[in-house]
This record gives sequence, C-alpha cells and structure tokens, in this order.
Amino acid sequence: MGCPLRPVNSFALIKFKTFGMRSYSLIAPAKINLHLEILGDRSDGYHELAMVMQSIDLADHITLRSLDIDAIRVRCDSSEVPDDSNNLAYKAAALMFQQFPDVFAQYGGIEINIQKRIPVAAGLAGGSANAAAVLVGIDLIWQLGLTQAELQGLGAQLGSDVPFCVAGGTALATGRGEELSPLPDLDNLYVVLAKYRSLEVSTAWAYKTYRHLFSSSYISDPKGLEARAARVHSGPLVQAIARRNGAKIGQLLYNDLEKVVLPAHPQVAQLKNAFSSTNTLGTMMSGSGPTVFALAESRPQAEEIQEQVKKVIPDPDLGFWIAQLTTSGIRVTQ
Ligand code: ATP
Repeated sequence: MGCPLRPVNSFALIKFKTFGMRSYSLIAPAKINLHLEILGDRSDGYHELAMVMQSIDLADHITLRSLDIDAIRVRCDSSEVPDDSNNLAYKAAALMFQQFPDVFAQYGGIEINIQKRIPVAAGLAGGSANAAAVLVGIDLIWQLGLTQAELQGLGAQLGSDVPFCVAGGTALATGRGEELSPLPDLDNLYVVLAKYRSLEVSTAWAYKTYRHLFSSSYISDPKGLEARAARVHSGPLVQAIARRNGAKIGQLLYNDLEKVVLPAHPQVAQLKNAFSSTNTLGTMMSGSGPTVFALAESRPQAEEIQEQVKKVIPDPDLGFWIAQLTTSGIRVTQ
C-alpha cells in the first residue's frame, strides 16, 4: 500500500535521477530473552526492566528500494502484518523522512519488502527487527553515515526493543529496554521455538496485567533500581554466558511475564512442561510470549527435543522452529 507523504516536487525528481536507483537487502534476526525481570514503574508509563537479550538466526528478510515518488510503500508476504502506516517498518521510514527532510527530497520515497519468517506477536521482536533493518537500510541508501549509537537513538523513538535489534548479539538491556550493555558473544547454543500459530499475546496486555497483580513488590527508589540492574549484570547468568556454559545458562533462564501469561493460557504452560520433560538445557517463555523456547547444545539435540515435544502434543496448530544463537544484529546481504 502506498501512502503519499506530500506532493512530488520536480527538483526532487531531477536530483533523484542524478543519484540513480539504490536498493539493499538486509537480514533482521529475532531475539529471545534469557532473563526478563520487571523492576518497577516509570513516570513515562513503561516499566523499569533488567533483561538479557539474545539474537537468534531465525530472521526476516527485508529489501529496501528507492522510489521515484515521495511515498512509503510496504509489502509483506504475511497477511498477519499490516501493510500500511501501522507497520513498524513504515514508522521507521517515516521517522527517517521526518529527521532528514532535505535528504528525503533528494532521494524520493522507499519501498519496503518484508519476507516474514519470524512468528508475529510471539515475543520475538519481529516488528522491532524490521524497524531496525529499515533504519540501517535507509542510512545506507541515503549515505548518511550514522553511527550505531545514532541509529539506536532513533530506534528508541520507535520501540524499546529496536535499539537492541540494531546491534544484536548478547546484551543486558535496562531502563525500558533501550539502555544496552554488550555481553560476551554467545553462539554455541541452539534453540527450539514452539508457538501455537493461532495464539497471539499482546505485549501491552502482559505488562498491564503484571502491574495490576504485582506492583506492590516494585522497587521505587532510583538507587534500588540501579543496584538490582547491577546485580543482574554481575550475576550468575552473565558469568555463565562469559564461560559459554550452556548447562548453567539453561538452569538460570528467568521471565517474570510467565507469571501472567502461563495462568491465562494453560496451553502455553503445558507446552513449557512438555519441553521440561525432554533432555533440554532449559526452557522458558520468550518476552511476553506465547513462544516457548528450549536450549540445546547442538542442532541434532534440538531436533530430538522437537520430535519429543511433537509426540507429547500432536497438535497441527503448534509450529516449531530451530535456530542458532547469533552474534549479529541487522546484516546487509547486498
Ligand atoms: P516484542 O517481542 O517486541 O513485544 P512481538 O514479537 O511480541 O514483539 P511483533 O511480531 O513485533 O510482536 O508484532 C506485534 C504487533 O505489531 C502485531 O500485532 C503486528 O500486527 C504488529 N506489527 C506491525 N508491524 C509489524 C512488523 N513489521 N512485523 C510484525 N508485526 C508487526
């Protein structure tokens, strides 16, 4: 769907012809949370979080192409994703147009093509990864030379997970998720992901319900919040990551949002139990769910876990994906 932004001006078209057509293809990896802890409330309505985020090589493929009209056009091969201004990729392009109006006037609009591989509304940051790819891709097409920190600053205006998706890898995320400290690379492990295709969980609902049930235990003083985030940074999970100790990482997986999503969706709790009964290193819901993942030392082990769970829950609605942990965020392929 093409959404006109403003009338085409002839100067823009002449300049555009000077630069010629440019296009880039990018890989936008999903993330899982190895740790998700809700620490308290913020004055902006978000939560204070302490998370360990991890990129996986299950990724969407994004192609960006300059258009000779002043429009943003989104095409996606999945009907679950909006193809208008509600798409986070569209919003990323609109933000770039707003931030760099003169460059936009030189280069014209953008067509964004999304090949969806990351399950939607699954707690895997698919939309955020797409937005991050659009920021990186437009920076390249327009030859802006923005730094990673500048791209992440723009990403934070679009969503809390976007800054992480730009850089990817393994990171501690605090604040509302946009303050990042890189952690040692972790790519020696595999995950089996499973999600009921017909089940979606709204991130906003999960956090709102958590606040309703657990806000009495929130940390309210800034020093206390800082101390708790620092304890996660120096804690056993981060030590296990530094030692690439898969068994220990598996034992230390943690997600506060399980406390609201599992009771509300018993089939997700049942899925987690099924994973627990296999020889996995550990199993956890990712983000606000409903995807559940299980860690494995190798691809064959991941395949074996998948087969075991398929036998316990032979439901055709249950989708499975196997992925390797990866050190990279948005990557350009051409
Ligand atoms: P997070 O883990 O960041 O909360 P998520 O994996 O739970 O994200 P998304 O896949 O990003 O959720 O989708 C959340 C909602 O955003 C869906 O309802 C979807 O329709 C909408 N959406 C908008 N743009 C996109 C996009 N480019 N890709 C996927 N979903 C999108």
